[in-house]
Amino acid sequence: MLLGMSSYPYASRYPVVRTLPEHGRDREEILAELREMATAEDSFWQTGKASGSFYCGDMEHYAFMSEAFGLYGHMNALQRDVCPSATRFEGEIIAMGLDLFHSSEATATGGDPVGMITSGGSGSILHAVMSYREHAAKTRGIRQPNFVKPETGHPAFDKACHLLGIELRVAPIDPLSATVDVDAVAALIDENTIAILGSASNYGYGTIDDIAALGQLAIARGVGLHVDGCLGGFILPFGEQLGHPIPPFDFRVPGVTTISADTHKYGYGLKGTSLLLFRDRALRNSQYFFQTGWTGGKYCSPGIDGSRSSGLLAATWAGMVATGRQGYLNYAREIFATSYAMQAAVRSHPELRLIGRPSYLYAFTSDEFDIYHVNDALRARGWRMNGLQYPNAIHMAVTRPQTQAGVVEAWTTDLAAAVEHAIANRDTAPKSSAIYGGVAGGWTEEADDFISAVMADMMDAHQALPPQ
Ligand SMILES: *Cc1c(COP(=O)(O)O)cnc(C)c1O
Repeated sequence: MLLGMSSYPYASRYPVVRTLPEHGRDREEILAELREMATAEDSFWQTGKASGSFYCGDMEHYAFMSEAFGLYGHMNALQRDVCPSATRFEGEIIAMGLDLFHSSEATATGGDPVGMITSGGSGSILHAVMSYREHAAKTRGIRQPNFVKPETGHPAFDKACHLLGIELRVAPIDPLSATVDVDAVAALIDENTIAILGSASNYGYGTIDDIAALGQLAIARGVGLHVDGCLGGFILPFGEQLGHPIPPFDFRVPGVTTISADTHKYGYGLKGTSLLLFRDRALRNSQYFFQTGWTGGKYCSPGIDGSRSSGLLAATWAGMVATGRQGYLNYAREIFATSYAMQAAVRSHPELRLIGRPSYLYAFTSDEFDIYHVNDALRARGWRMNGLQYPNAIHMAVTRPQTQAGVVEAWTTDLAAAVEHAIANRDTAPKSSAIYGGVAGGWTEEADDFISAVMADMMDAHQALPPQ
């Protein structure tokens, strides 16, 4: 079982807290308990066998950012009169992001580039979609908006459209390149389309949609183009600088109007921040909120959140300026090299097939057996891959923990054993597909109801106590 998948983690190890303790516990004792759990959990990803999630892996960098957090964690970024440092952090993080994504090109072509910091990728996506909705209502009178995403676009877009009352239209991908079919996107755009999406790169396959073609389409049809760089935003620019085949996806590309990039992924920050950048101030400001008539005073907020901790801004700012361009570049060099070495191991097995043109993240499947057999065997050897469906595939988002000595070698050995396992068991059903894989025959409404019920039970269990 994966860490955290047992029903009541730690219930057998520590007393279960069911009420506020009458008298506060000793701080040292609490910290010792927290250290124990953190050390146990860190030891899993520190093997380098876990895909994604732990992008930086440098405990000293984490401790440094935590110290920065500690200085500002109690400050409220909503109240700049008493917390003016938040303005420095926010302004400078956004400036670094705008520079990384070549906002000077936006300025040169009449744009007024700005940004905002949100709580994560989903937050950036929600605010981007909300900006498009509000701006389209104001400038184009659109009352029944729709948004077009590639099928590989992150579910955060589905969630944003769901929350904001926007119709989501889904364009298929070309199976060979695993990038969106641009003609299909064009066919889905109508007079109520507020924006379209391209990913750089998408979560599943790590492939980059044809942002230049989508940009031309967006301009021709008068709609916005969001580039989802939540995952790739802080690594692809450095991959490009290293000479890897990464086409421009940022403000250099005409038609790109917003970009999301997660500081808490390859930005190597603490969890809880993401950047959302706009070619034009008017688009961002369209979702500013004002309530001037409230008895509690005049109120405004730049996004959905009210009070926010300055601590995350301080930690993100500190992490970025401590890493610097050369730091990001060096990490990217190691990550790309490791990923290509791991991909070479996949290529050495004719039974396996890499999907699209992978870079720092690679996904693969098999035309000869269910790839979840490979996943089963890899899990038994301590690997945590991410599972994809339609078609079944697995992926590894290569992060710094994989760049340690010995991980590529372990991968090469374990993958070979996993392929043997898959060949030997090809006529049986793999174990892990029940959790991660697609249901045979594709998506159906009945399967959706059933799987949703299972997932609701899981989410319930994630916040439940053991019975007394
Ligand atoms: C992670 C991710 C998101 C969502 O980000 P969260 O930080 O999990 O909310 C969006 N798009 C892509 C491509 C991602 O990888």
